[in-house]
Amino acid sequence: MKNFLNEFKKFAMRGNVIDMAVGIIIGAAFGKIVTSLVEDVMMPPIGLLMGKVDFSDLKIVLTDDVAIRYGTFINALISFVIVAFAVFLLIQSINKLQEKMTAKDAAAEAAEPTTKTCPYCYSEISIHATRCPHCTSELNKE
Ligand SMILES: [Zn+2]
Repeated sequence: MKNFLNEFKKFAMRGNVIDMAVGIIIGAAFGKIVTSLVEDVMMPPIGLLMGKVDFSDLKIVLTDDVAIRYGTFINALISFVIVAFAVFLLIQSINKLQEKMTAKDAAAEAAEPTTKTCPYCYSEISIHATRCPHCTSELNKE
């Protein structure tokens, strides 16, 4: 049992597990907000325009207790599209940020090298050296 707890602790303490948990919690909260946005804010005026239709009430009644509630399904579909679009925007902005950062790194790397490798002893030496400080070989100016 103790072993199991230790394993679980190791698993839970890994950074990505915590990140994932935060993501799921935020995602669930965000999903609720979008659901409310669709059902409580967006659909009532649209329903009004379509002739006072309440989307969550739209259904095909089969028997007294059974109905196909396609209005609720439409609400869920619209919620999904909004969530998918928000996630798309989020991922796009993260990708752009990452691209910018890697471009910056590449630019920093491409900037003037400050060292070169001695062709005789393969030590790293100053780019301006005319004589290797390690093996004292004379170096040709490049
Ligand atoms: Zn050398």
